[in-house]
This record gives sequence, structure tokens and C-alpha cells, in this order.
Amino acid sequence: EQLSNQIAAGEVVERPASVVKELVENAIDAGADQIDISVTDAGLSRIFISDNGGGIKKDQVELAFLPHTTSKISSRDDLFRVHSLGFRGEALASIAAVSRTTMLTATQPGLGTLIKLEGGKILSETTQTSRQGTSVEVRDLFFNTPARLKYVKSVNTELSHIADILNRLALANPAIAFTFSSNQNILLKTSGSGQLLRTITEIYSVGVGRQMLAIENHDLDFKITGFVSLPKLTRASRNYVSLFINGRYVKNYALNKAIIAGYGSKLMVGRYPLAILNLQMDPFLVDVNVHPTKQEVRLSKEDELGTLITQSIADKMRAQNL
Ligand code: ADP
Ligand code: MG
Repeated sequence: EQLSNQIAAGEVVERPASVVKELVENAIDAGADQIDISVTDAGLSRIFISDNGGGIKKDQVELAFLPHTTSKISSRDDLFRVHSLGFRGEALASIAAVSRTTMLTATQPGLGTLIKLEGGKILSETTQTSRQGTSVEVRDLFFNTPARLKYVKSVNTELSHIADILNRLALANPAIAFTFSSNQNILLKTSGSGQLLRTITEIYSVGVGRQMLAIENHDLDFKITGFVSLPKLTRASRNYVSLFINGRYVKNYALNKAIIAGYGSKLMVGRYPLAILNLQMDPFLVDVNVHPTKQEVRLSKEDELGTLITQSIADKMRAQNL
């Protein structure tokens, strides 16, 4: 059973950033509006995530670490159909299988549950005073899976993966206040104001705020809201383009191209705008027949959506006499 956990773990827990993603998504699902993340050595030594969400009841804590005991949904087809981000019920089990994990959780301020695991084995479960919410500490990631550890890249590479994921989670959740620190340095701090433009400035820089255009458009199938930068504010990396479908960050090459097409010849070749677009649609339009941890999605009516995106941006540019 522990071996099968370790094998399954490789699917979910590829690198420190995957741990951060799964734990933060759990905190979001738990209704937290404050989530603090800190890592040491890009998470290889230590990942610590604390939230002020609903917590886990005493008699559910052990269960939460068993594979496939999600309290959420059980089918990957539900991925874009329901609001919750978790859907496999194996993240905690997988993370605990390849690390030394400690969780303190309480459903109200007062007595909480402290559980300690090592390599998936429960070492202890005790009662301890806690505020409401959950904190998870993951130490010594991959200590028992040297093969996996070999695939982990440099500290800088892993750290930038974590930062990318947290930027996207913060952009997708402007009403949640996030802090992220690495070896004691604060790298990200959002206020949880609920305003996307403010979150954008908190992540990218205050100056960016004045250089963003609001996008709002819809047709019968799709609703688009968000912000794109003026053509003069461009970056050399496509990393500054963020697409969210029904609140979930996705990668889609055709839609990225549709954004760039909206700028026509105003965008220099090889440059990318800063763009954060929320796409709302019937979940049945999302092809979920893709690996769940990969972020690439295919859409039915992708061409229609692409055209709508291009049009929305082009119209906005024209309205601004750009
Ligand atoms: P999933 O998110 O797919 O349900 P996980 O292994 O990530 O599976 O989590 C298992 C269960 O543990 C969740 O369904 C949830 O009930 C509980 N849980 C995990 N993290 C938290 C948290 N931060 N706050 C409250 N409950 C949590
Ligand atoms: Mg989860």
C-alpha cells in the first residue's frame, strides 16, 4: 500500500511546485481568505502553508491522508463542472508518501488536531491548541524517492516554478490575501481586495496598473473579462499571459495566439503582452480528456472563442485610438 502510494505520488508530486499548488488549492477549497506560503530552499527542505479556512474535523484527519477519499468530487469529468479545485482525493496522500509531513488543523479556534507522518506512515496524532484553519508543513521532500529527487532542477528553477503557480493562483483569486516568502524574503503579497486590477499591480508592479485595458465581452457561449496591457508594455516571455477557464488556470496555445492577434501589427514580433483573461463557459465545452495535472486543455468551439478574444482586444485598441 505504501509502495502504490509512492508510485501514485509521482503523478501528482512532480516537484516542489506541485506540492505548493495542491496545498494552496486545498486551502482555497476550504474557503480561506488568507493563505501564507513559505519555502526554504525552493521547498526542498521545507514548505509551509497556513490558511484560515474551515479546517478538518478530528475524525476526518486520518481519512484525508488516505488516497481517494476526497470529500469533494470523484470524477475527472467534474473538473470544470464544479467550483472545487480538488477532484482526485490523492494529493495529501501522495505528498505525505514522499516527505515528512505535519498538519495542524481546527474547525474552530481552540482544540485542533496535530498529525505527523513520515513516508506516508502516521507517526502520531494528538490534540493541540490552534486557531481556526489548517497549516501543513512538508519537510524533506522526496527523501525516500531518490529517483524523483534526481529530476528536480536547480533551486532557482524550482523557485520560479513555485512563483509562477502562486502568481496564477493569486490572479485567479483576487479576494484571497496571499503571502509568499522564500528563505525569509517576501516575494509576493496580495491584499485580497477582490479587485483583479489591484492584484495585477500587487504582483507585477504599481506602474503596470495605468497601462492595462479592461476587457469585457461575451457571446452566447463565452464570457470574457480581464485586462490586457497597452501594446507598448510588452514582455519577452509568454509567462505574462494568464488564461483562466471558470477560475482554473489553463494553457492553450491557440488562445494565446488569439490574444496576440488582437494586437495586430502593434505588437513587436517575439514580444508578449501582459494579459490576464477570465473565460467563463459551460464546462461541457472544455475537453477534459487530458491529464489532470497538466494544465493544457482543448475546447470545443475553440475557434469561436479565439475570434471573440481577438475581436475584444482589437476593438479595445481601436476605441483607444491605438
Ligand atoms: P482533494 O482536494 O482532491 O479532495 P486532497 O488529498 O487534496 O484531495 O485532500 C483530501 C481532503 O482533505 C479534502 O477533500 C479536504 O476535505 C481535506 N483538506 C485538505 N486540505 C485541507 C485544508 N487546507 N483545509 C480543509 N480541509 C482540507
Ligand atoms: Mg486537493
